Amino acid sequence: MTVLKTVKRCPKCGSLSVMPDWAVTGTFYRCNDCGWRGAFVLEEDTEN
Ligand SMILES: [Zn+2]
Repeated sequence: MTVLKTVKRCPKCGSLSVMPDWAVTGTFYRCNDCGWRGAFVLEEDTEN
């Protein structure tokens, strides 16, 4: 059985250090590297 994991990537700097930001209403994300904040992130499938 293959488990597909998705990683979230910052659309601005490409960092994987994107965390959900629960401090605001709705689902926002924040990048720990460049400080970007937004409602969407790039999602990529990874096999490991
Ligand atoms: Zn970033």
